[in-house]
Amino acid sequence: MHERIEAAGGDVSAVTVVAVTKGCGPEAVRAALDIGVVDVGESYAQELLAKAAALGSVLTVPRWHFVGRLQSNKVRLLSGAVDVWQSVDRHRLGGELARRAPGARVLVQVRVGDDAAKGGCEPEEAPRLVAALVDAGLDVVGLMAVGPAGPPEAARAGFTRIAALADRLGLPERSMGMSADLEVAVAEGATIVRVGSALFGTRPRPGGAKLGD
Ligand SMILES: *Cc1c(COP(=O)(O)O)cnc(C)c1O
Repeated sequence: MHERIEAAGGDVSAVTVVAVTKGCGPEAVRAALDIGVVDVGESYAQELLAKAAALGSVLTVPRWHFVGRLQSNKVRLLSGAVDVWQSVDRHRLGGELARRAPGARVLVQVRVGDDAAKGGCEPEEAPRLVAALVDAGLDVVGLMAVGPAGPPEAARAGFTRIAALADRLGLPERSMGMSADLEVAVAEGATIVRVGSALFGTRPRPGGAKLGD
């Protein structure tokens, strides 16, 4: 992963790799910890909680990032485990997070492609949402975006826009780039990349194991 980040002109000490283990068992998390990765991402609440429970006896536990579509009724369940909430995209989630995880570290997910199913607030709404989350006492550290499907180049314009928006809002972190488009994301200023299949191989089931949600 470091080779790919460097080849894209990125500084490996300035880009955090979040290993996305959705669809893999707890052994993938253990393998990531073994090679020194401390940030681990999950997209589904039940899957994250099951792995966190399975790893309860491991001395070093990962810093868990929640990167999937977040339902407000899952916030309470997840609040004991999640360290970074990357997919906050609406006011209602902010209220629930402020109640269940006061001061939590969050990123605001902003939509960059045409696919609304991937989540994210509209770019025009991001400043207001960021301000509301800060008002609610949350630690808003950056913006997150999921690039559109298709060739990696298709993601560039959106990533440029996210980086500019983060600059304008004074937010240091930009979580953008996955296995297929991480070079483009790094070139456009990503500080966090979320990498699944490039580390763990193709997931057995698209979207990961559906363990109850
Ligand atoms: C699955 C997922 C990833 C990782 O995707 P890969 O293409 O396997 O690297 C990153 N971010 C989000 C939001 C995801 O759902």
